[in-house]
Amino acid sequence: MLTSVAQAVYVAAAILFILSLAGLSKQETARRGNVAGMVGMALALVATIALALQRSERSVAVTGSLILVVLLVGSTVGTWQARRVEMTQMPELIAVLHSFVGLAAVLVGYNSFLTEPADPAHLVEVFLGVLIGAVTFTGSIVAYLKLSTRIRSAPLMLPGRNVLNLAMLLASAGLLVWFLSTASVLPLLLMTVVALALGWHLVASIGGGDMPVVVSMLNSYSGWAAAAAGFMLSNDLLIVTGALVGSSGAILSYLMCTAMNRSFISVILGGYGAEGGTVVASDVDLGEYHEVKAPEVAELLADARTVVITPGYGMAVAKAQYPVAELVAKLRARGVDVRFGVHPVAGRLPGHMNVLLAEAKVPYDIVLEMDEINGDLAETDVVLVIGANDTVNPAALDDPSSPIAGMPVLEVWKAARVVVFKRSMATGYAGVQNPLFFRDNTSMLFGDAKDQVERIMLGL
Ligand code: NDP
Repeated sequence: MLTSVAQAVYVAAAILFILSLAGLSKQETARRGNVAGMVGMALALVATIALALQRSERSVAVTGSLILVVLLVGSTVGTWQARRVEMTQMPELIAVLHSFVGLAAVLVGYNSFLTEPADPAHLVEVFLGVLIGAVTFTGSIVAYLKLSTRIRSAPLMLPGRNVLNLAMLLASAGLLVWFLSTASVLPLLLMTVVALALGWHLVASIGGGDMPVVVSMLNSYSGWAAAAAGFMLSNDLLIVTGALVGSSGAILSYLMCTAMNRSFISVILGGYGAEGGTVVASDVDLGEYHEVKAPEVAELLADARTVVITPGYGMAVAKAQYPVAELVAKLRARGVDVRFGVHPVAGRLPGHMNVLLAEAKVPYDIVLEMDEINGDLAETDVVLVIGANDTVNPAALDDPSSPIAGMPVLEVWKAARVVVFKRSMATGYAGVQNPLFFRDNTSMLFGDAKDQVERIMLGL
């Protein structure tokens, strides 16, 4: 009886997860999507715990207390972390969470190997679950270290790195054959070590502007790791949920690759676009840059008819979205046509800028995608580049040796005037200097983006 009720609850939860994904695809319905996901997850937890209590060989009290303890620890740490995290640290948090999914799949794999009968189908499930889990685990840790700048984001360029990856994959295939023929733990242990190294190396080799794809790719891997755990635990909901996460992550990675003009295969094999011969652009003399102060920018805006704002990671760091939203409202009230141009990988998370602008209640209809706005930039009077750098770098189009060569960018330099808000001449995430800053129609407004926007408003 309980089993069939739990199965029905699982179906309801799976439907809620699908509704959640559908809701999250549009800003207007994202809140509803989140609620559907939360309700689905609560139902799934209740059904899973009820089943675990029923199937446990120990007394309900013992199993119940064990589950309660882990739930308490997990939810306390989770709540504490989620409340503490800054919006700019969200990608790091997500990377850490993916590493937990990977680790869980590895642990479930070993547990399942040690406790279940060793039929070949089960052995394959265990092997694949541990393999995907271990790659996800170390890959996510490296992504976390790179995103939090604890290690450099530049790609690790080991000689023959593609051969190395291939050798690790072939070694794993060989170990699978050994594992299936002996059902002993040794090949499983060896494969785990190889897979941990592979995950580490794959993500360490990726740098520059390709990290966004890695973040969504690890999201996808974590889904497949969860699905593999679902097979081992014979939990249908985990299989469905894992497959939803796995395939949506894969679709997102593919879309981001298309948006960035990268080949998916080259990105996941690591280091594409960062082949030898890269010129460290900061060593090249790019000429002089011009500096402006906030009151001059206020005058410029007062005379403008059309303004485009291209936000980037610095807007998130400065939390400048609120004064930016006020500035936009003020300019629009004066009849200036103001729009936003959002690059697909601006910030450190897909959709990062859209979330910030929605948070500050900027109307959705003036927030345009890069492709929608690029054609209009030549007729724009003033572009305000607020804390963006790589996503407005002309070297991506002009300089084939640049690590971000080939990535489509917001072509802000085509506007009559460009004002770049940043604190110094430092490079962006990809670590390359930006020739935009040295163009004749570009002026640098140095300082914290939030302070500067507030100062501009004083002059309007
Ligand atoms: P960048 O990271 O290229 O540049 C951000 C700029 O903001 C810096 O040059 C910095 O300059 C400036 N800045 C930082 N703090 C402040 C502040 N308080 N006030 C004003 N300016 C500030 O940003 P983009 O958004 O243009 O590009 C995103 C980059 O991140 C791309 O390379 C992308 O590939 C990568 N990435 C994106 C992910 C995604 O999913 N969106 C995930 C992982 C990586 P200064 O220090 O001088 O102030």
